[in-house]
Amino acid sequence: MAERVKNYVNGEWVESSAESTTPVVNPATCELMAETPHSTRQEVDAAAEAAYEAFLEWRQTPVVKRVRYLHNFKTLLEENFEELSQTVVKENGKTMDEARGEVLRGIESVEFAFGVPSLMTGFKVEDIAAGIDETAERQPLGVFAALTPFNFPMMVPLWFLPTAIACGNTYIVKPSPMTPLSMNLVFELLEESGLPEGVVNLVHGDAGTATAVMEHPLIKGVSFVGSTHVGKIVYETCARYGKRVQVQGGAKNYLAVMPDADLEKSVANILGSAYGCAGQRCLAGSVLVAVGDVYEPLRDAIKEAAAKLKVGYGLDPETQMGTVVSAQAKNRIEGMIQKGVDEGAEILLDGRNVKIDGFEDGNFVGPTIFDKVTPSMSIAREEIFGPVLSIMHVPDFETAVDTINASRYGNAASIFTNNGHYAREFKYRVNAGNIGVNIGVAAAAAWFPFGGQKDSFFGDTHGQGPDSIQFFTDHKVIVERWFE
Ligand code: NAD
Repeated sequence: MAERVKNYVNGEWVESSAESTTPVVNPATCELMAETPHSTRQEVDAAAEAAYEAFLEWRQTPVVKRVRYLHNFKTLLEENFEELSQTVVKENGKTMDEARGEVLRGIESVEFAFGVPSLMTGFKVEDIAAGIDETAERQPLGVFAALTPFNFPMMVPLWFLPTAIACGNTYIVKPSPMTPLSMNLVFELLEESGLPEGVVNLVHGDAGTATAVMEHPLIKGVSFVGSTHVGKIVYETCARYGKRVQVQGGAKNYLAVMPDADLEKSVANILGSAYGCAGQRCLAGSVLVAVGDVYEPLRDAIKEAAAKLKVGYGLDPETQMGTVVSAQAKNRIEGMIQKGVDEGAEILLDGRNVKIDGFEDGNFVGPTIFDKVTPSMSIAREEIFGPVLSIMHVPDFETAVDTINASRYGNAASIFTNNGHYAREFKYRVNAGNIGVNIGVAAAAAWFPFGGQKDSFFGDTHGQGPDSIQFFTDHKVIVERWFE
């Protein structure tokens, strides 16, 4: 029987008593590595109680001291860099280089939190009225929680946890049940960093566990990252229970290529965007909008380059594209490919039925390209979350912008051009939260806010950067008068 992953509550590793579990399977080798318990409402309650108890003291711990624990944590992340990266590969299926990039991004989020002592300052105006001074102070709110997806099991929880606790809150993470192992390793390092009991807690589980988090009266705010369908449920439920909430949802990202773009460099970038992490990034390029004369040379160059990508096990250093996360994801993606064929798109490269020597049962989908895609087709509208690129040919820049803006999603969009006017018009007019100019994956660094628009984001303050200070603190205003 596979080992059940443990929860970490109030400074102790505890086994959940849950009856139902999710298997944790290496998507390349199909090895059953562990099972994730669907922790019960009582177990969420115990974590929330512990986090609340810890908050009462933690908020009084000087902010510079709070941040020092994060310095220890960062050192431990660096010392365990390779093991963390390998764990991500084993449970998620991406390549080792992609996993290293993920761990590095996680470390950068810890580095951002080092700045909290200067970022959470308030402001003051003397003599706002005769003899009266007014001050706005930032205070932590209490217990916060994250509900996170499978595709960046290490990085996404670290978008939130370090800043939340540096601001004086305490924290609960509920990772994806498919990829719980990276967080267990991270929590071992958090424990080693010396944080007091109850400041950080890990509760594994499924939708039921997440519901208990959203409904818990002691939890003040929730950061969700995942699909739009679930995100809407989370947004509504958290609002009903009076919580702060930020929901980073699904995506359908468009990449526009102008005739004046540098073709060779653009193709390399587009390839990384569409097929990096096997297309399982919320910033993955999914629709390639070829403008005017660039269409034929671009299509041919993309096809040639994509066909050469070496698909395989992420731990093999030769591998350029790993697996998708599960057999279920593979079936869903292959179903979308069939839908593209049925709806009349022309398939230029078909990634179905890829077999990798030594990994015959692995969940591999090869790079796939559709041509002659129209905006009404499912493959142009729905998030596929796999290595599938759809090519559309449009006559001009205006049609490209209109096509992109007609999408229900607005996570990211990129333009490839050498023309400053088009670049400026694009960033000004395209309705997406993250814009790339000659960049295929417009990922905000930890010091910048990260979030989409339209159905890709619900809430007010984005994740990361200055927005996260806003999310994890509340302004209190003090109006003062002193008599002689
Ligand atoms: P998902 O929506 O299935 O799951 C996300 C989290 O929600 C998991 O922890 C899951 O257990 C939990 N959950 C599932 N059902 C729930 C429910 N009914 N109520 C409350 N919580 C529930 O997402 P996934 O498949 O793990 O991740 C892929 C999705 O995440 C894609 O759509 C991708 O675009 C999106 N994503 C978005 C961003 C972003 O920043 N916008 C980043 C990464 C991934």
